[in-house]
Amino acid sequence: MPRAMTMTEKILAAHCGQDQVQPGDNVWVNVDILMTHDVCGPGTIGIFKERFGKDAKVWDPTRIPIIPDHYIFTADDKCHRNIQILRDFVTEQGIPYYYDPDFVNTQAGSGMPNPYRDPTQTNYKGVCHKALPEEGHCRPGEIMLGTDSHTCTAGAFGQFATGVGNTDAAFAMGTGKTWLKVPPTMKFTFKGNIPPYLTAKDLILAVIGQVGFSGATYKAMYFTGDGVQSLSLEDRMTLTNMAIEAGGKNGICDVDEKTLRYVEARSNRPDWTVYQEDVNAEYDGEFTWDLNDLEPLVAKPHSPDNTATARECKDIKLDRAYIGSCTGGKITDMIFAANILHGQQVKIPTFVVPGSTEVHADMKRLGLDGEPVKEGQKNIEQVLQDAGCLLGAASCAACLGGPQDTFGRLNEPINCISTTNRNFPGRMGHKEAGVFLASPLTAAASALTGHVTDPRDYINGPITTGSAGIC
Ligand code: SF4
Repeated sequence: MPRAMTMTEKILAAHCGQDQVQPGDNVWVNVDILMTHDVCGPGTIGIFKERFGKDAKVWDPTRIPIIPDHYIFTADDKCHRNIQILRDFVTEQGIPYYYDPDFVNTQAGSGMPNPYRDPTQTNYKGVCHKALPEEGHCRPGEIMLGTDSHTCTAGAFGQFATGVGNTDAAFAMGTGKTWLKVPPTMKFTFKGNIPPYLTAKDLILAVIGQVGFSGATYKAMYFTGDGVQSLSLEDRMTLTNMAIEAGGKNGICDVDEKTLRYVEARSNRPDWTVYQEDVNAEYDGEFTWDLNDLEPLVAKPHSPDNTATARECKDIKLDRAYIGSCTGGKITDMIFAANILHGQQVKIPTFVVPGSTEVHADMKRLGLDGEPVKEGQKNIEQVLQDAGCLLGAASCAACLGGPQDTFGRLNEPINCISTTNRNFPGRMGHKEAGVFLASPLTAAASALTGHVTDPRDYINGPITTGSAGIC
C-alpha cells in the first residue's frame, strides 16, 4: 500500500523521478523556475561564472526570471552598478524574462532616478514576489527557487517555492537541479469565512504567535480549510509569504477554482500538474482556528512572533504608518486601506508603496469596490492621496531599510505600524525604531488615530475587492 503523501512530498517526488518520498529523504530535484533580483543576482552570477566558467551558459534562459526591485529609487552608485551587472548578464545569456528599471541610468554620479511616469509604460515590474505570478511564472505543482527568503510566497499557487542562498542558486543556474531534504509538513486549518475586519495578515500572525519564529524551522507549512478558500489569491500570498517568519521551508495552499482562474489567465507555460493532499497524510503538528474567534493582531517590536491583539496595544503611540511590500502592497491591500481612509485624514505621516507597477496601474484604474472606476468616482490612488498619504513608486522601498535616501525609510528611532513582514531591529532602517506588523486594515485605522487601532472601529460592513488582483 503506497504511503499517503502531502502536496509538498508529491511535488518533490515528481521532480526527483520517484513514486514516493518521505520527510528526511535527501533528493536531487529538477527546478522549474529560478528567480533572482538586484541584491543577490550579481553575487549569484559571480559564483556561476567562477564555478562553471566565464563563457558558461545557463541551463535554460526561459526559466530564470530576473526582477530588480530592492534598491531602485536611490542615488547610491553601488545599487546602480548591480543593475548594470544584471543588464550585461541577460544580454549575454539571452534571458527573455528580465524586467528592467529602464529609467535607471547606471553611470556613476547619475543621482536619484526619476520614477516611471506611467506604470503601464515601463518594463520594470517592482517587487519580485508580486511580479512572479503577474508575469506568469507561478504554477501549481512546480518547484521554484529564489534568492530571497520570501520566495515561499509562490506556495499560494500550490507549488513548492523556497528561498536559497547565492551558491545554491548559482548551481541551479548552471544545472537546473538542486539537492533538498524533504521537509515534514505542519497543517494549519482555518474554519469559517473571512470577516470584514480580518485579512490573511491576521491569520499568519496568529500562526507565528502560536508556533514562534522558529516553530516551523525546515517544515512545510500547509494552510487549508474553508477559511483559506474564502481568501482571495492575493491574500493567500500573504499567508505563504510569511511562512519563513516561522522558519518554514515553504508555505503551500490547496489549488482551487480561484488558483486555476488566475494561473490559466497568466501562465506562460501550459504544462503543469495539480497535486492534492492525501486524506491520510501525516503531519508534524496540526493547528486549527475558527475565523470568528480571531481578532485583528499586531506583532510588536522586535519579532513577528511577539503578537498581541490591536485592542491590547491601543495605548501605543505611533509616529508613522507604512503600507507596502510583497506582503502588504498588493492591490487588495490597497483597497482594504482605502476603504478605511476614504473621506478621512491621516494623523501621522503615512507612506504608501505599491508592490508592483501592475498594482500601481490598478490603483489608478480601480475604485473602492475593486471594479473599474466609473465617472465621478475616485480611484484608489486619489482616495489615498486625498486622505493625506504620501505615495511612492513600486519597489521594496523601506521594507528592508535600504540606502539612507529610500522612500519611507525609518531614519530615526520612531514607532511605525507597517504592513511588511519582518520587524527585527534595524529592518526598516534605524536599529532603535519600533516596527509593529499589522494588516492594511489595522495600519490604515491606526494612521487615522496615531495609535494602534482595531479596524473594527472603522468598518461597517463587508469590503469587496471585486475583480482586483485576478486578471
Ligand atoms: S518587499 Fe520586503 S520582504 Fe518583500 S522582497 Fe522586498 S524587501 Fe523582501
